Formats: sequence, C-alpha cells, structure tokens
Amino acid sequence: EALNKILDIKGCIRVFCRVRPFLVTEKRRIHEPLSIKLEKVTVRSVGSRKEFRFDKVFHQAATQEDVFVEVEPILRSALDGYNVCILAYGQTGTGKTFTMDGTNDQPGIIPRALEELYCQACLDNSSSITFSMSMLEVYMGNLRDLLAPKAASRTYEAVTRCNLNIQTDPKGLVEIEGLTEVKIPDLAKAKWWYTKGRRARSTSWTNVNETSSRSHCLTRINISRHGDNLKAKAEVSKLWMVDLGGSERLLKTGATGQTLDEGRAINLSLSALGDVIAALRRKRGHVPYRNCKLTQILKDSLGDSSKVLMLVHVSPCEDDVGETVCSLSFANRAR
Ligand code: ADP
Ligand code: MG
Repeated sequence: EALNKILDIKGCIRVFCRVRPFLVTEKRRIHEPLSIKLEKVTVRSVGSRKEFRFDKVFHQAATQEDVFVEVEPILRSALDGYNVCILAYGQTGTGKTFTMDGTNDQPGIIPRALEELYCQACLDNSSSITFSMSMLEVYMGNLRDLLAPKAASRTYEAVTRCNLNIQTDPKGLVEIEGLTEVKIPDLAKAKWWYTKGRRARSTSWTNVNETSSRSHCLTRINISRHGDNLKAKAEVSKLWMVDLGGSERLLKTGATGQTLDEGRAINLSLSALGDVIAALRRKRGHVPYRNCKLTQILKDSLGDSSKVLMLVHVSPCEDDVGETVCSLSFANRAR
C-alpha cells in the first residue's frame, strides 16, 4: 500500500536501474566508470562526470530475488485491477533478457511473476481469479504471434503476412485481433506455454546473427476476476512484461542494409515509447501513442490508470560508457 501511494504521487511510473556484473571475458580496470550510491548512478569518463537518479538502483551483485522483491508490489496492483507494464530497456548485452527470463538456476521476473500470481490468486477468497497468456514479437513494425499453432516451424516472412491487427474499442481498450490467447489454469501450464513462446522466438533467428536483439518481445497475462455474482462480467486487467529491443545507436556499429533498417525501426519505436512516457509524466497535452506499433499495443497499459515500471539496464564497462550515458539519460527523461 505504501508503494501504491508512491506510485500515485509519481504519476504511476517508476524507473529502476540495473548494472550488469562484469562477464569473465571482460577486462576490469582499476578505475571503473560507474559508481552507485543509494539511488544514484555516477558515470565518469575522460573529463566528465554525470549523475542520474532513479527510484531504485541494483548494483552488480544484486540477485534476481533482490530485483523481484521490488517488482512484487506492482504485481499486486495488476491483481487489484490495474493494467501494468514492466519494461526492460537497454543496450544489447546488458541483461534485459536475464532480468525478464533469467536462467533455470536464476529465474527472472516472468517465471517468478507467474508463480506469484497463482500464489496470490489462491490466497484471495473474495473472488475467483483466472489467467490467460499471449506472447508476441514486434519486428520492424510487424507483429508475430509466438503462441500460434506451429509458429515455431514457420519462417518470419510466412508469419508476418498474416499480420495481426491492433484495434482500440470506444472505451480505449486495446485488442489485438487474431492474437492467440491461451488459458493457463495452473502454474505448470503457464510455464509450459511460456517456454513454448520463448522457443518460438529464438528458433526463427538462428543464423540471423543476434537479430533477436532488434525486436521487442512482449508477454501478456490477462487477469480475470469473477465476483460472487457469476452473471456479472468479469473484470479484466492486463500485465505486460516486455523485453525491448537493444537501444544502441547505429552510427558506432557501422550498420548497413537490413541491419540498418532494423536498427532504425527499433530506435524509432524506443523514442516513441520515450515520448509517450515523457508526455504521461507531464500529465497534460497530447500523448503520441500512434507513432508506432509498440506504443499502440501498450496504449491502455501506459496511461493514467495503469502502473508502469521501467528497468534500465547498463553495462559496467569503460567501452560502453557512451551507450550507458544514453540509456541513463533516456530513463531520466521517463522519470
Ligand atoms: P540483453 O538481453 O540485454 O541483450 P542478456 O540478458 O542476454 O542481455 O545478457 C548478456 C549476458 O550477460 C548473458 O550471458 C547474461 O547471462 C549475462 N548477464 C546479464 N545480466 C546478468 C546478471 N545480473 N548476472 C549475471 N549475468 C548476467
Ligand atoms: Mg536479450
């Protein structure tokens, strides 16, 4: 409840920062560029020193549990009927997928959230709660249904032709026409579908050299709450958990052709997302949802009556300082 109060004060948008640990292959320097003190990250590089503040900062040694503890209250909000959006932002290789999916030994936010939802639903005896799941990928403005039958065996081209349609009803609720929505009556089934969706995502990218970092992967849990009156319509809220495409800028990587187009598409959609969040924080004026597929899809979960948590990921390395400053600046704009 205390957190909900904070969320209200801050316009329902919270921004956390997570600094990835050094990988065994990375050289450590005596003077590391990043230092973390409380909710503040300081980036030092030749001749400059920049400070960024967040609602929470996770240092290199923070565990998946440490992160999840801070995410848990927002899940409670989803069960209480709010639309919720959890977004992982950052340069490729900074740990977005590690945070959202994690590994078998160190499960991330999505598998933990699934467990938590069933656990909470079980404890709640004033109403009955049911869940369903959808997963999709957004790549260069195309939507791909990751839970569609046989999706895993189709090539990207074949699937994108049967494009999914984003519709907004008069109440402002977003519906993606044609998107598979599976019932998940228990945790085992939920994990089974989630694994299937992840597999569908990765198989289409073999040989395409890290192209998966140029797409957004979205997992949606629809939460339906049925009261005592069985005839009444169920209240439905949405929980989105999004592994965004890599935020790195293009010039440095010397991208050409297809890679350049992919990079442009990602950069455009991430800046559109930044614009939407910035407009929401100002709490007035036009919110530019229509600028890209990503913001159209998330429209009813990024607005006034929803809760947004952005986790910005950065690298601890000297070589990445430029990108790190860009990511932290993006996040500060959101905050
Ligand atoms: P991204 O999805 O942002 O491209 P990944 O999640 O794939 O990045 O992470 C890149 C590498 O760093 C992976 O090998 C991952 O296991 C590792 N990694 C990222 N974050 C952490 C962390 N907090 N602790 C341990 N390993 C991490
Ligand atoms: Mg990733």
